[in-house]
Amino acid sequence: MGILSKLFGGDSSSTASPAAPRYAHIKIHPQVDGGVKPTSPGFQGGTLTCKCRTNPVKVQVSGQTAHNHVCGCTKCWKPSGSVFSQIAVVGRDKVRVTENGDKLDIVDPNAAIQRHACRECGVHMYGRIENTGHPFHGLDFVHTELSSERGWAAPEFAAFVSSIIESGVEPSRMEGIRGRLRELGLEPYDCLSPPLMDAIATHVAKQSGALKA
Ligand SMILES: [Zn+2]
Ligand SMILES: [Zn+2]
Repeated sequence: MGILSKLFGGDSSSTASPAAPRYAHIKIHPQVDGGVKPTSPGFQGGTLTCKCRTNPVKVQVSGQTAHNHVCGCTKCWKPSGSVFSQIAVVGRDKVRVTENGDKLDIVDPNAAIQRHACRECGVHMYGRIENTGHPFHGLDFVHTELSSERGWAAPEFAAFVSSIIESGVEPSRMEGIRGRLRELGLEPYDCLSPPLMDAIATHVAKQSGALKA
């Protein structure tokens, strides 16, 4: 998992617990607790707004997102009371700060993903990768729940699930949390989903020469 921790500062492994009957009482994230809302075909994007009551930061996302998922890492912004975030990617050329961009600060300039956050309310408005060698360079990370528009790409899986323990979740709760994620159709992974892990490994292999570029 050396590559992973370099790329995301995330963490690693454990084996999944077997699914058990009913976990509807277990909260994952406000966007999915009532059931995952479907993607609208032809959806064209919308405007993300931070939580400030006055002069909110607004970011226009002019296109549908991809790879939406709930994430248990300790770095993503989460709504209060939630141990998971919900996060998707979109081409960086589709992301434009339209109002009050002067309130944005980069949370950690040394992180692979530079999270541009409102310094007043703390909401992360977009995460950008400036390292052109990074497998996900060109994609920005956004929280589509910050938009009032409906029809954004539905979440597809759960990433970095074991990492919620780092936020203080009791390990004994993990079986129920993984069970609930499976009930919602959000397969729990302790890193990213297999297609994304394969994309990262392919990128690394092409850089090293192990695969032809
Ligand atoms: Zn704000
Ligand atoms: Zn995360």
